[in-house]
Amino acid sequence: MESENFIEDIIVKDLETGKVKTIRTRFPPEPNGYLHIGHAKSISINFGIKEKFSGSCNLRFDDTNPTKEDIEYVESIKKDIQWLGYKWDAELYASDYFELMYKCAVSLIKKGLAYVCEFSADEIRQTRGTLIESGRESPYRSRSVEENLELFENMKNGVYPDGSKVLRAKIDMTSPNINMRDPVIYRILRASHHRTGDTWLIYPMYDFAHPIGDAAEGITHSICTLEFENHRPLYDWVVENCDFDKPLPQQIEFARLNIKNTIMSKRYLKKLVDTGFVSGWDDPRMPTISGLRARGYPPEAIREFCARIGVAKANSEVDPGLLDFCVREHLNKYTDRAMAIEKPLKVVIENIAEGESAKFNVANNPNMPESGEHEVILRREIYIDASDFALVPPPKYHRLVEGGMVRLKAAYVLKHKETVLKENGEIDYLICTYISGTEPGGAQSNIKVKGVVQWVAVLDAIDAVLYKYEPILTDVIDGVSDFGDRLNPNSLEVVDGAKVEPYALLGGDEKSFQFMRIGYYKRVPCDGDKPKFGRIVSLKDSYGVKV
Ligand code: ATP
Ligand code: MG
Repeated sequence: MESENFIEDIIVKDLETGKVKTIRTRFPPEPNGYLHIGHAKSISINFGIKEKFSGSCNLRFDDTNPTKEDIEYVESIKKDIQWLGYKWDAELYASDYFELMYKCAVSLIKKGLAYVCEFSADEIRQTRGTLIESGRESPYRSRSVEENLELFENMKNGVYPDGSKVLRAKIDMTSPNINMRDPVIYRILRASHHRTGDTWLIYPMYDFAHPIGDAAEGITHSICTLEFENHRPLYDWVVENCDFDKPLPQQIEFARLNIKNTIMSKRYLKKLVDTGFVSGWDDPRMPTISGLRARGYPPEAIREFCARIGVAKANSEVDPGLLDFCVREHLNKYTDRAMAIEKPLKVVIENIAEGESAKFNVANNPNMPESGEHEVILRREIYIDASDFALVPPPKYHRLVEGGMVRLKAAYVLKHKETVLKENGEIDYLICTYISGTEPGGAQSNIKVKGVVQWVAVLDAIDAVLYKYEPILTDVIDGVSDFGDRLNPNSLEVVDGAKVEPYALLGGDEKSFQFMRIGYYKRVPCDGDKPKFGRIVSLKDSYGVKV
């Protein structure tokens, strides 16, 4: 099997040496918020390995922190993973192992490897030492096994108040790794858990719970982000001392995904939701999976993005343009085209009589001939976009000018005759003529005209509102480190008064379109009288990757 990154190198080696037979991974989200694009990377690594090595991948909710977790988040996480196109083998919860974890803790006590400490959180911090200074041993460290067993059982049975005692692993207060200086592995917490209710009054700490969950499930490669590198010795200590069967799980760290100007922390994203800066976790501007879905990003594009950024051991920042590039590439291949006008300018085509019309066909998607065609109707009065006519054209302007010509997409060449102004000097409407025989396939269709513009007949045009999304964060400002001071007040631009052709309303809420020359748009579900479309991504590629 060809290896594509350092994690796969390890896996291939473990298979070759016979250390493991079946590769088992897991994706372990904490249900304390919605998944974001960073999680998509972890998902694509863990589920990608399962697919590539014919292994398995569990979904394990890391629900050891009952005060922050909620069933709403569990449901959203499951929906997002499925939407990305991945299937987990088993749906599990750290809380499924609370009994096992308790037993492991008791066995550590019996081995003299854990003790009940009565230090407060502050005292534990103060005696932990620093990077250059050893920690100090707790006076409770030398309690007998019997005493520890009794105290721990009392902790479990609710004899002591919250925070009054903890269970600590007895490792080494002089270890150069602070995580090994008698870390807390259990705490007393009277909090109702979303799955176990009030059964437990003590909860395991993440560093104790995680390796036990992995080992219990027979996970072979426990892949996590770099900030856990210093926790690996503790991870190994737990699985080794809790007597699990071999092969023991192996923790491997990779660099988390950072995208420029993109918030990648559930805690902060939750703040945006709670303060009402966005309409919810699935606001189309959010970098959450549900936000990207509402925005119209195809799951295939997100997977492609994760494949392109690869897996590295060193932190770096990815250009958001790469994600847009992947989205655009997918939409260009698969979305239907439709005509829309952002800022309508009326054109009267003099040589089409009132009530007369001509029908034309537009390819739904020139990249996919099997997608067929739809009809557009040309009438005496049409709209073109105001930016497609200029009284005083800038250099290299190829659209309509006074006395000039432009091609109406899929229809005739139009010739300008007269500009009618309002009293205030603004343009009111244009009077033009069409040139017969210039329709596609017509006798004069070869006529040289540089510009092609979209249009829609006044009679058929449907009023619409366009939403254009901009990044939630502004560019980094010198000296400003808090996200809160970088929130972009203009992250949503609303263009009222747009016009779309009727075809844009077919296909329901989920359908995306390329509005020709404007951008990729998706219908925004709403009640109001006018349909709304939100911009998925613009047409212009700022990233500059050649396909
Ligand atoms: P957050 O700080 O946003 O809450 P987290 O790491 O605490 O993120 P978890 O729910 O614990 O979120 O994450 C589940 C898995 O996803 C973990 O293995 C974690 O390492 C991984 N993960 C989280 N954020 C990223 C990221 N930006 N890039 C890659 N993997 C990530
Ligand atoms: Mg976390």
